[in-house]
Amino acid sequence: MVIELVYDLDQWQWGSRTKYPDGTKRPFKMDKIVIHWGGYTNPGTGQEDEMAILRGWQRYHIDSKGWTDIAYNFAVGNSGLSYRLRGINRSGATSGDYENDGIRENNEALAIVWLGGLNHEISDAAYGTMSRLIRESQQTVVIGHREVKGATQCPGDDWMTYIGEERWTIAAPPPPPIPPPTGDHQMITIKHYAGYESKGLKHQRPTVVAGQRMLAYHGFADQKTVDSTCASDGWYGPGTVEATKDYQQARGLVIDGTIGPVTW
Ligand SMILES: [Zn+2]
Repeated sequence: MVIELVYDLDQWQWGSRTKYPDGTKRPFKMDKIVIHWGGYTNPGTGQEDEMAILRGWQRYHIDSKGWTDIAYNFAVGNSGLSYRLRGINRSGATSGDYENDGIRENNEALAIVWLGGLNHEISDAAYGTMSRLIRESQQTVVIGHREVKGATQCPGDDWMTYIGEERWTIAAPPPPPIPPPTGDHQMITIKHYAGYESKGLKHQRPTVVAGQRMLAYHGFADQKTVDSTCASDGWYGPGTVEATKDYQQARGLVIDGTIGPVTW
């Protein structure tokens, strides 16, 4: 299982003193996410502030604490930007053993830190980016640092609420629908199997695509596709038939699964 998190700025882009790829620094088998905060950190107002916070933390963790690097894997700012720190490697940010399995959390938890702290508000953009990173990490266990280490307030009450409500599981908003064909588009009559090469109807594929886009635009996407968006693949398969019938039922049309000039 390859896990890849999409981030905005890599180590070399935010001025990190260390640079190395995912999975090569030290062995790491991830089994959960731990959310952290910066304690009293003012989140600042944008990328420059956030990069400065990271460089400051890294200085502190390396020069004062004697650690090998900044002690988190990824960071999220109120700007909504995400930063790769150690990446997918052991972090050292989370001491303690959450489930008493004999493996300390700094060896099996991915630590994501919010670049803010007490008395500062978490932006919607930061929540959104955190949710996306959690989903991309493919982890189902998400905890706050205080659940491992009792004596810390980290990551603050707001993140604990977010964790308790499992807000990251709320699906990402679907992509905006593709606008239907414009102009005086006259739909020819198409039905099940239209667009299938084996049936000699290949020439109908652009029309099927137009029909599928129209269905998706009206909220009746082909539910058989993996992501529940209309396949728009030019094949009038069973999913498209179902979507067409649902649309026809909702519009009071004859429910025959056939798209034609009167359908829209
Ligand atoms: Zn923490």
